[in-house]
Order: sequence, then C-alpha cells, then structure tokens
Amino acid sequence: MSLRPSSAARSRARAKAKAAAPGQAAWRAAAARVRRCESCGTRRGPFQLHHVVYKAEVRRRRGDQWDLANGMGLCLSCHYDQHSRKRPIPLAALPAAAVEFAVRLMGEDAAHVYLGRRYAAETTTRRAA
Ligand SMILES: [Zn+2]
Repeated sequence: MSLRPSSAARSRARAKAKAAAPGQAAWRAAAARVRRCESCGTRRGPFQLHHVVYKAEVRRRRGDQWDLANGMGLCLSCHYDQHSRKRPIPLAALPAAAVEFAVRLMGEDAAHVYLGRRYAAETTTRRAA
C-alpha cells in the first residue's frame, strides 16, 4: 500500500491552499486602507492589520485566520510593541468587532481570559506625539 497521498487528497489540499489565498489578499487590502493607528492614533504609516486573536490561536480553534472582524489597524511601532509585550495595547482600544469575533470563536469566558492576558487593562489612552 502506498503512503503517498491519494489524488483526491492532493486535490483537496490544492483546493484548500487556493481557498486560503483570497482571504489573505483581502487582509492585505484592508491593511492598505488603514489611515490611522487604532492604538496610538498616529496617521503616519505604514500600517498593518493586527490579528486581535493571534493567528495561531485562531488556527488552533479552527477559525478563519483571515476574518476581517479580527483585524485592527496598527502602526508598525504599536504592532511590534504588542507582539514583544513591551507595550501591550489597552483592552479599551480593541475594536468591538474583534472582541465579538473572539467571543464567537472561543466563548465569552475564554475570550475574556485570552484578551485579558494579552492586552493591557489600563484605561489611559496613549496618543502619538
Ligand atoms: Zn500606533
């Protein structure tokens, strides 16, 4: 018996890879439309679309990692500082749609624990100089 994937399995894998591409393209297009950092407020780009629920977590829970509801426009500095945990984004700055995405993906309690661990509870808003 051959251990090579069947042609049907290979064809399914190809279809999956193809299906993933438009979502990523839409994500990039949405990032290109960002005009203001949703965390610090700067209008100086470039900007990126941040995964409020991190990509790995979305994949782990079998969600759509390119669902635009989970996106948040950030300047490179805020994006870097979030992922390095140097300066986490305040919970209050998270877009409502992204919080709703998190609740749909993992349920209310788990979403609050997840977001509470990754984002800052402080309510003071940070503004770009
Ligand atoms: Zn920023």
